[in-house]
Parts: sequence; structure tokens; C-alpha cells
Amino acid sequence: MSQSVVGKKRVRAFIQGRIQGVGFRPWVYREAKHLGLTGFVYNTPQGVQLELQGDSDQIDLFFQTLTMAPPPLARIEQLEADEIALQAEIEFLIIPSELEGETSITFPPDVATCKDCEHELFAENDRRYQYPFINCLNCGPRFTIIQDLPYDRKRTTMDKFPLCAKCAREFNDPRDRRFESQPNACPNCGPQLQLISADRQVYDKDPMAKAVELLRVGKILAIKGLGGYHLACDATRADVIETLRERKHRPYKSLAVMFVDLKQIKAHCRVKEKEAEELQSYARPIVVLERLAEQGLPQAVSPDTQDVGVFLPYTPIHHLLLKKMSPLIMTSANPSEEPMVTNERELEKILGPIADYALTHDRPIARHCDDSVLKIVEEKRLFYRRARGFVPRSLTAVYQGPSLVATGADLKNTFCLTRKQCIYPSSHMGDLSLLAVQHLYQEQMRNLCDLQHIQPEVIVHDMHPDYFSTRFALKTKISWKIAVQHHHAHIAACMLEHQLDEKVIGIALDGTGFGPDETLWGGEIILADYKTFERKAHFKTYRMPGGEQAILHPDRMALSYVLADVSQTPEDAQALLPSLSTEQCRTLKSMLEQKAHSPLTSSAGRLFDVVAAIMGLCDTVTYEGQAAIRLQSLVDTSVHAHYPYALELEPEATVLSFAPMIKKIIADIQAGRPLSQIATKFHNTLVTALAVECEQIRTETGLSKVVLSGGVFQNDFLLRQLTKRLRQQGFAVYSHHLVPPNDGGVSVGQAAIGLAKCGTKLKS
Ligand code: ZN
Ligand code: ZN
Ligand code: FE
Repeated sequence: MSQSVVGKKRVRAFIQGRIQGVGFRPWVYREAKHLGLTGFVYNTPQGVQLELQGDSDQIDLFFQTLTMAPPPLARIEQLEADEIALQAEIEFLIIPSELEGETSITFPPDVATCKDCEHELFAENDRRYQYPFINCLNCGPRFTIIQDLPYDRKRTTMDKFPLCAKCAREFNDPRDRRFESQPNACPNCGPQLQLISADRQVYDKDPMAKAVELLRVGKILAIKGLGGYHLACDATRADVIETLRERKHRPYKSLAVMFVDLKQIKAHCRVKEKEAEELQSYARPIVVLERLAEQGLPQAVSPDTQDVGVFLPYTPIHHLLLKKMSPLIMTSANPSEEPMVTNERELEKILGPIADYALTHDRPIARHCDDSVLKIVEEKRLFYRRARGFVPRSLTAVYQGPSLVATGADLKNTFCLTRKQCIYPSSHMGDLSLLAVQHLYQEQMRNLCDLQHIQPEVIVHDMHPDYFSTRFALKTKISWKIAVQHHHAHIAACMLEHQLDEKVIGIALDGTGFGPDETLWGGEIILADYKTFERKAHFKTYRMPGGEQAILHPDRMALSYVLADVSQTPEDAQALLPSLSTEQCRTLKSMLEQKAHSPLTSSAGRLFDVVAAIMGLCDTVTYEGQAAIRLQSLVDTSVHAHYPYALELEPEATVLSFAPMIKKIIADIQAGRPLSQIATKFHNTLVTALAVECEQIRTETGLSKVVLSGGVFQNDFLLRQLTKRLRQQGFAVYSHHLVPPNDGGVSVGQAAIGLAKCGTKLKS
């Protein structure tokens, strides 16, 4: 380089990843200043561009620090740096955003209130003392306030709050913690709280104090959070919880509980180190913990299980409330399974019918986002729902190709958008059989495509002809359509998490998914890579009398099993399933015999339902997975025995028949054996049968990697036992840690398969 001066250099770098809204540029500014470097940094729609000039060693040190200890919330996905010619310059500058070009930055998730802000919130002499919207560069709303990119205040829902002089000073000072912090606000210029009663009386005077007072006397409040409203009430009062359950039409499903701090959680739940870490992480998910039997929380919080989802405050509003009143039930504010309410217009649906009061404010929510829910299993995350704090983080595929949209499955729906090798899963949308969820789904898909400037060229969908997501895909103008089998997608999602690109043994245990033979699959062992799959084994098939109705009524599904394998007389069957009348048994029997409205299924989920029904645990379900949750709650880990089963070699695939087990279970119940023993032996039977079949497949094919997916693997006892057993047999076993094993992960698998089918493999 002609102009180079000994020991000096200039480097131009381009950085991509999660680097906007995380204090990246101020961090660069401070580091550069500290190292005596000149140059500049600015945001572009694709990433951050910077140039640094100064002492060679200092510049190297800068990049070392950047890769080893970047700003806490940043995630660097790509860094390109080139040495360029020296320039005459005397200072380091942050220059305004560039708007041109294609957007490829990952925008940031919402971040829980940081320690510094929490401290100021409770410091009497601070100008933001008790201000419910305090935030800084390291914390606060992001995903739920961003309307467009690049991330700047004028493209967020904070646009309507002009900064006061003091806030503007902070915003413009690179040494300040609030330098270019887009949601910066204070009591003088930012959003304000308001309390509204069911009869629309408005309380502007100290709404927070009033809210606490109301919660203390057992009222139910709708509280505006980051991605929607919550319903809050006293978590220690069974009567109040029952009222909430009645109004929300949610009799049994667990309700999440928010605690003021970790110490209080430990007084009510068993907390391991990794769980404590997760609870305090900046994503602040709901973590499922074991409730301590004696102390604290009433059974009404989670009547079906000892497990309960708990979390810590993640917004200043939560901190202020919980400091005065803890623990609180904090559950999504929605009428039954509809999406969370996000605006004042929709508040109509809950204020009055469910909530007595609403604690609301004037900062609009740009984008709906539920709380994330997970459990720690063997030190790793098992997601039940991936949303706030994790979206819009991307996953990396093994292939890259044209941008596509993967439309997901209909239950627990998520969709994915892709760009090159990056897959962006949406947050949890919900059940697409509901009109409100269909609207949310289409709106968010459009919105996220616009926001990230993604124009999908390919659309991937499930094979189920009646799914809303399938019909949606078939109707769109995108002409390149790819249909993917449901369980192939489940397995591919898990393969992608582990960057596997080879043929594996996939065990998909699930509710139901449409099979190419037009039966409903769900207890499957397949050989799969991204492009193809082959069904090697499946659970024995039974008819589902009344289709969907058999899912809602496990006793009807149990009748189908009993009539097929135990006794053909309706009277005998009725004696085993007392929740059904003899008349019902006769009607259902003729329905089954005529094969009327009774599709065949190999579902593993239904097998759990049937066992629970025969054990008298559950004849009707009020939420997905209820029977399986009750069954798992009885597990006694000291029981190691299992029931008999049969492997029947059929021409197309091996059939795993649990008919011998069902007969034994009936005998055990009649002999009065403890239910915990029966429930555990049932789980152990599945583990044994699956492990034996995998052994068979390994002998035949030489494959030794096993991938586990499907909603049934939300059952962590089964997951743990099967993993352990297969590892003992020398298999490499892979399960989900980044997306849920349930249908929330299906779109990721669809995207992985889509990219493999129309893209090219990335060089590793
Ligand atoms: Zn902060
Ligand atoms: Zn201000
Ligand atoms: Fe599924």
C-alpha cells in the first residue's frame, strides 16, 4: 500500500447478524475511542459498515475484542474485513443510517429490563423513579415496536413520543447508556399508564397503586405487556383462579405464574442451576418447574400436574407490580384459544367478559408476540413455545436457495421465511382452525415479508388437504409449490438443528399428520434425509370414530382399541369404559364397522389418550395433550418393568402393536395395581419397543443416528428414557433444543426440505 505509514493501517469491515438495536454502534464508538482509532460506523439495511484507522496492533485488538467479547446482546453472523488506503481524518464518527438496498439484517428480539434500569426504577432520586417505561440500549422493547427497518425511532411505535430535552441529550451522547436507544423515554415525554374499569371509567391518578389495590382484593386485571395483554390475578388464591378459569373457559390447562424474584420462586418450586440461569436470561421465558407439594401455590394453578410454568418480571410495569404483589397469575389475555389481545379495540373482548379492569398504556404494539415456554431437560432447552425473546432469531440451513415461505401445520402454527441459508421462524401463531388466528397469520406473514424485504419464490406446505395452511399455500400466486409430509418435516426440523445432512432413523411420535396413503400417521419410524423419506415402521392402526371427535373424547378412541383387540361386545367394552353408555358403545361400534367417518390412524398421541381413558384418568380433553400430561404426572421413576408388545412384519413396514399391552393394562386395573405403576410400565413399553425396532433397522441398514421429533416428545420422561436407552445401545441420538418438537417446529422442517429440494448445498 503506497500511502501506508509504518505501524498504521486502515480497515474497512462489514458485519452482519443481530447488530441493530443492541448498542452495537455506540460500542464500536467507545472501543475505537478507547484504542485511539479514527474512522466511522453506520447502519445499512444489510448490516453495519465501519472503517477504522490507527495503530495496527490496536486495530487487531479491536477485532479480537469484537469476536471474543462483543456487546452482550449482539450476535455476529458474518464479518468481512479488508485493508484499504489510509485517509486524512482526525476523529471517529457515527453516521446516520443508509436506507438503500436489500435488507438482510436480523432485527433484535425484546429484551428484559436490565439491572441498571431496574436500579434506577427504584432509586428515589432518579428522574425515572417508578417510571413504567424505563429502558436503555441494553434492554426494552424491540421486536414488538419495530414497524420498519433499519431500526430507528421514527420507524417504531415510539415515533409519536418526541424526546424531551433531557432524553434528547442522552440520545445524542455516545458515552451515555441511552445513546441512540430508540425507545428512550421519561415521565415527561414518554408513554403513560392508565387504568380502565369494565364500565369504562378511567383512572389517570396513580393507576399502578390502584391496580395493586385491586389485585389484592381478588380482582382480575388485563395488563398490557410487550407483545399483547396478560390476565393477572392473585396466584395464591384458589377461588380467584377458579373465577379466571371459568371466565376464560380454561378449566384445567396450566396457568403461568410470575414471581418478584428467584428467591420467591425457590420457596415454591424446585429450581436447578440451569433453570435459574434461564429464568434470569434476557429472554425471560416461562420455565416449567416442579411445584413443591407442601408450600404455596394452590393446585388450581396446574390441576393436572405438579409442573408449573413460572417467570420473572421482564418489563418495568411487571417490576413495579410484583414488588407490591407477588406471585401473580400471568396468562395470555384471549378468549379461549384466540390470539393474545394487542390493542385497545380488541380489549372489548376481554374487559368485562374476563377482566374487571385493564392496566393499559399509549405505546402501541406493532406486532403480536406470546411468551416463550420451555423446560430444561438434561441441561438443555426443550421448547413448548418459541416466541418472545427468541424471535426473530434465525436458524442456519445446510442448503441455500431462493427465498421461500414455509406455511407450517395447523395446530400451534408457526411459519418460516428464508433468505439464502437463513431460516426465520415466526413467533407462535396458534390454532389455524380459528378465524382470528387465520387473520393474524396472514397479516404477520405479509408484515414480516415486507419488513425484511423478502419476496418468496417458493411456498412449502403440509400434505393435509384440509389444513388452512395448505389451502392458503395452494391459493397464493407463488407458482413453485412443494408439499411435504408432516412427519418428514418434524424429523427434518430436528436434523436441521443439528446440521445433519445424511440418512437418519427418524422417530416421529405425534398427534396426527396426513400420510401419503391418506391415513393419519403419528407413530412413525422413517428413514429420512432432507429430500426423501421411507416409512420403515409404524404403530398399529385403529379407526377414529367420528374423526376429530375421537381426539376430544379419549374414551371413544379407547372403545375403538377395545373392540379391535379385547372384546367385540359393546356391553364388555362399556364395562371397561364406564363414561360411555351402552347405547353410545353400540352406535360407535356400528360407525366403526361401516368405516363411516372413522379414519385410520397410527397416532402415538392417541395411544396415550387410550391408555389414560382405560385407566379412568381422562374421558374428555379440554386442551391438547391433557390425557398425556395426566398420564405422565403419575410416573414413578423407580419402576423399570414394561408390558408385552408385538412387532409384526408386514410387506411395506413393520407394525408395532401394543394390543398385548392394552390387555395387560386392563388386567392390572382389574387387579387393583397402583396407577403409577401402570403409567410407568406403559412409558417403558414404548421405550423398549422403539429401541428394539431401531436395533432391527440398524442391522438392516447400518444407520446409527436417531432423530426424535413430534409433539409426544414434549413428554420429557419419555424423551429422557428413550434417549438413554438408545445411547446405551450405541446410537447417536438427537432431539430438539432450538424449536419445539410439537407442530410449532413443522415449518422449520418444511423450510429445510424446501431449501434442499430447490437450493444448493453450502460448503462446510
Ligand atoms: Zn436498561
Ligand atoms: Zn424525556
Ligand atoms: Fe405434528
